[in-house]
Amino acid sequence: MSNFAINYKKCPYCGGTAEDPCNYTLCPVCEGDGRIEKYPNERDCPFCNGTGQDRWEFSPCRKCDGFGALDREPGRGPVNLFYIGGEKHYSDRRTVENILEEVTGNVLICDPYFGKNTLDLLCKIPNKCAVRFLLVRSQGVSEDDLRRYKQERPSFQFKLARQKDMHDRYIVDDRGLTILGHGLRDIGEKESFVVFLERSLIPTIIEDVSISFENRWGSATSVF
Ligand SMILES: [Zn+2]
Ligand SMILES: [Zn+2]
Repeated sequence: MSNFAINYKKCPYCGGTAEDPCNYTLCPVCEGDGRIEKYPNERDCPFCNGTGQDRWEFSPCRKCDGFGALDREPGRGPVNLFYIGGEKHYSDRRTVENILEEVTGNVLICDPYFGKNTLDLLCKIPNKCAVRFLLVRSQGVSEDDLRRYKQERPSFQFKLARQKDMHDRYIVDDRGLTILGHGLRDIGEKESFVVFLERSLIPTIIEDVSISFENRWGSATSVF
């Protein structure tokens, strides 16, 4: 399964009119867009039968909040391709945030050029993950910033790689490998792709990448 940018569907609550069917205001579900995001794994809400209307009162369905569907989460197929267009900054950022929210378990991140935006985005990785982050150069992040960050997220470790031969950005986690076409620091400023490949598809590559990461990690200097 692939995710090419965002798929939309007609807003079930207003039927695409963008108006609140019960009030003279913008539709509260699609916020006046007339359409809402469609997720690959979503299923019709059994409480409202996908209409988005509450059964007992004139308001958005209390079970699905008017979206007409449940399990509205980004899909988790064996291959996921995300397109970061570089022009819709808000949507692009949401896409990247969603990708990071899905990360699980032991996490290795290699992303040479580090910045404030990197730190902001890393907050989206669930707290229970143990994250090791390898970077080459940092810009706009002080030692204090990192110290404070580590106080809040003790399961994060940052190291400065000794080798300068790193270019590609990737995340290895319990699920598989995520290849970032652009570093997190500047992601969304240019058109790029993010590709996720499940571990079972590429076990040897993940092993090679992990060994290479461990080697670099071993000779890297601890930032904190
Ligand atoms: Zn609507
Ligand atoms: Zn519903």
